[in-house]
Amino acid sequence: MRTLSDVETVGVVGAGTMGNGIAQVAATAGYDVVMRDIEAGFVEDGLDSVADSLSRLDQKDALPAEPATIEERITGTTDLDALADADLVIEAAVEDVDIKRDIFADLDDIADDDVVLATNTSTLSITTIAAATDRPAQVVGLHFMNPVPIMDGVEVVVGEHTTEETTAFAHAVAEAFGKETWESDDKPGFVTNRVLMPWINEGIRAYDEGVADREDLDKGMRLGTNVPMGPLELADHIGLDICLDASRTLHEKLGDGYKPAYLLERKVEAGTLGKKTGEGFYDYDG
Ligand code: NAD
Repeated sequence: MRTLSDVETVGVVGAGTMGNGIAQVAATAGYDVVMRDIEAGFVEDGLDSVADSLSRLDQKDALPAEPATIEERITGTTDLDALADADLVIEAAVEDVDIKRDIFADLDDIADDDVVLATNTSTLSITTIAAATDRPAQVVGLHFMNPVPIMDGVEVVVGEHTTEETTAFAHAVAEAFGKETWESDDKPGFVTNRVLMPWINEGIRAYDEGVADREDLDKGMRLGTNVPMGPLELADHIGLDICLDASRTLHEKLGDGYKPAYLLERKVEAGTLGKKTGEGFYDYDG
């Protein structure tokens, strides 16, 4: 299996919120990156997001090189075969198990046999995704946090067949990208979302029942428990659709204690998804 010192090119599948963030941190760490999405417009949007983020970090003197130098390391493409030369592939496409299994089956055909395939899934089973390949020992979860360039942590998720060698490689990759890691077994929601999603849903239910207005509810949790964001503002930041998908997976796998809040479902049906649509529990349009 390839080791960290063999890695020159990192393949990233998906150019959305997480994919372009992962591409950015890999390029910032000095790696060449090939970032693939299904439409040219999505690739362009991803590259634009990287350029904006690098420019903001540069203004804070937080980059090890010129933004243009880092940007040049990232090649955007819609061609899956462009990932053939990658020494490691990190998948960050939509949170849909069938789509991810199709992607992993394709990657298994394309990538060299000794390449590790990682997924950024928030809640889906690494073992189920790995079973779409002939290399389940070399499939692992690399669960980056949003926004990737800012957040310090990455959760390494160990599937049923993931070897110790692959797990150690995943920790080393995340550390080479400037992150700290922790490890989780491949159980629904891993550590972070299993604990976080019930907290967010309880916050939404308490707000819906009128326990407090949204500002007091978030302020109470911030000041009362020393977290940087309360549940409603954090849900808006993550995206209410992402929270609902994660909550549904937990509910399906772990039972009633993980049921999504009714108001979360209603807001997603209404298309108010948080910051990314300008409205969620708070209004961001002005
Ligand atoms: P997103 O919707 O912003 O981006 C997903 C991208 O994947 C889209 O651009 C889409 O076109 C692309 N895509 C779909 N099918 C594809 C395919 N076959 N090949 C290549 N690209 C494809 O979603 P996101 O928020 O970036 O989430 C991506 C993954 O990261 C999900 O698994 C999600 O659960 C996980 N995640 C998200 C967050 C978060 O806060 N948003 C945090 C941690 C993990």
